[in-house]
Amino acid sequence: MRKKQFKTESQKLLDMMINSIYTHKEIFLRELISNASDAVDKLYFKSLTDTSIPLSRGDYAIWIKADKDARTLTISDNGCGMTESELETNLGTIAKSGSFDFKKNNEGGDEVDIIGQFGVGFYSAFMVADKIRVLSKPYGEEVAHVWESEGASGYTIGECDKESFGTEIILYIKADTEDEKYSDFLEEYRIRGLIKKYSDYIRYPIKMEVERERLKEGTKDEYESYTEIETLNSMIPLWKKAQSEVAKEEYDGFYSDKFYDYEAPLKVITQKSEGTATYTALMFIPSHAPFNYYTKDYEKGLELYSSGVMIMERCADLLPDYFGFVKGLVDSSDLSLNISREMLQHDRQLKIMAKAIEKKIQKELLEMLESDREAYEKFFDAFGLQLKFGIYSDYGIHKDTLVDLVLFRNSEGKYLSLKEYVAGMKEGQSAIYYASGESEAKIGMLPQVEAVKSRGYEVLYLTDDVDEFALKVLGKYDEKEFKSVTAEALDLGDDATKEKIKEANEGAKEMLDFLKDAIGSVESVKFSANLTKHPVCLSSEGELSVEMEKVLKRMPGAEGAPTARVVLEINHSHPIAEKLLQLFATDKDKLGKYARILYAEACLIGGVSIENPGELAELISELMV
Ligand code: ADP
Repeated sequence: MRKKQFKTESQKLLDMMINSIYTHKEIFLRELISNASDAVDKLYFKSLTDTSIPLSRGDYAIWIKADKDARTLTISDNGCGMTESELETNLGTIAKSGSFDFKKNNEGGDEVDIIGQFGVGFYSAFMVADKIRVLSKPYGEEVAHVWESEGASGYTIGECDKESFGTEIILYIKADTEDEKYSDFLEEYRIRGLIKKYSDYIRYPIKMEVERERLKEGTKDEYESYTEIETLNSMIPLWKKAQSEVAKEEYDGFYSDKFYDYEAPLKVITQKSEGTATYTALMFIPSHAPFNYYTKDYEKGLELYSSGVMIMERCADLLPDYFGFVKGLVDSSDLSLNISREMLQHDRQLKIMAKAIEKKIQKELLEMLESDREAYEKFFDAFGLQLKFGIYSDYGIHKDTLVDLVLFRNSEGKYLSLKEYVAGMKEGQSAIYYASGESEAKIGMLPQVEAVKSRGYEVLYLTDDVDEFALKVLGKYDEKEFKSVTAEALDLGDDATKEKIKEANEGAKEMLDFLKDAIGSVESVKFSANLTKHPVCLSSEGELSVEMEKVLKRMPGAEGAPTARVVLEINHSHPIAEKLLQLFATDKDKLGKYARILYAEACLIGGVSIENPGELAELISELMV
């Protein structure tokens, strides 16, 4: 026997396992059974091409044996087994180092739940056992090895006797404490329950040796005990079962095992299709975006199976980019087992499936929006940005699929769908108003927002870069045009007011042109009725708003980006309007300075940076003195 220390990371995880008061200790069995199933898979796949392995599918199994007297629970399999060095690398270091990294990045987070949900694999056994022995012999080898550990003190490894190939894991179950009844895990009913809950879909039989009693032959009241082997799992793949027959825990466990997520999915979607394409799909909407979701490292896709056998781990063609957050798998009998990647890309069946899957996801999301608002908003917080990008991308060809799935915040910070906005429109209101800016607080301070709201119209607050671009692509919703409150064409006010403003602008044309020249960088200066309290504001002519210009300028290669045509609007009913007209007659020099100050003021209110703050400061102090 050789004695070894664990690698540092494994050591830390072990400590977490041993010391954590974790309510879901029961997941250890799922982890060990999944490992056994993977090991059997490996040998089975090998046997498909290696004819020297005289085993057929039905020969493979996983066995569970509980011995109450010895307090041991044994999980064995006839899978690929491990050599001495494999035992060492696989069990002496953390395999799923991803989970550990996560832990590190999430210091102070909910450590406990991470352990349980993630499934840290083999190590989770230390939550219920104080000693573990792993005996293993690879298929076709002469010698077997045993790995043994009591946790913290490290492990020993050496040769041992083991007749058959495969792996046998013996857990020495911890002694019961006041809070934890570990001996439960040796009870048949408990093991049976755990396998139904977490491992029913495992594709190999999980057999248990169970103790039974029977009447002794030839006697009337003497009983004898005997053992019987029972298969505890149905072996039906999870995705072949009706959703109503599967417990939430089973889906959740399957999901976290397969997609390495520590949090249960927000929604499970199942689809069964026959006809033009025959397939079953099992999909999940994650509760949160993976840390790399909005980077180019993230790879979308669904697992692809041909009649129960996996043929591709990540088939990107099955999901459009805007639903790229969906995890899951598709099992079809239409696809041949050895179809190549290239052929798949052009496969007609695959295209039909992808279309139907997209429709299904859209439908389920809409349904969620209507029936489970809280969950939908959580979903939207995580992936809403992706949906908005989807509207904008490819010149808007997907907009119909996505338009009813997007939400925007209103002036009270509540999420509204466009449908809800329209339903709440005031009589006489013809457009959907929105304002964009860096933050909801800043948008709330825009003079035009106040003006629009004072008429009883709701305003959508757009804070993501893509928002306004997406609305431009949509153009209209339910025949209602989208109107930016900072557009020069906002056009509030009744006809009489509009007429009055028009006249005022015509009458003061010379003065307004003078202001424009004095400022230099605006398209025009005009009187407006779009304001209530504030003296001035900025707006823009045409399609490109000041906010959109900012977004474009932030993008790489922004040198040639178009710029917004900015308009300075002056509140016609504010005393400043009168003052400007006076100055035009008496003091043009002063008027020029006023113009520049008013423009700077409008920039500040509108969240646009001032090009020359020094000049502004000088102008103000000059006027003060
Ligand atoms: P993971 O299963 O995520 O890789 P584990 O800690 O559960 O992490 O297991 C580590 C490794 O040990 C596995 O990847 C596998 O190579 C090996 N292993 C575990 N259990 C068995 C087994 N029953 N038979 C063969 N190899 C196993």
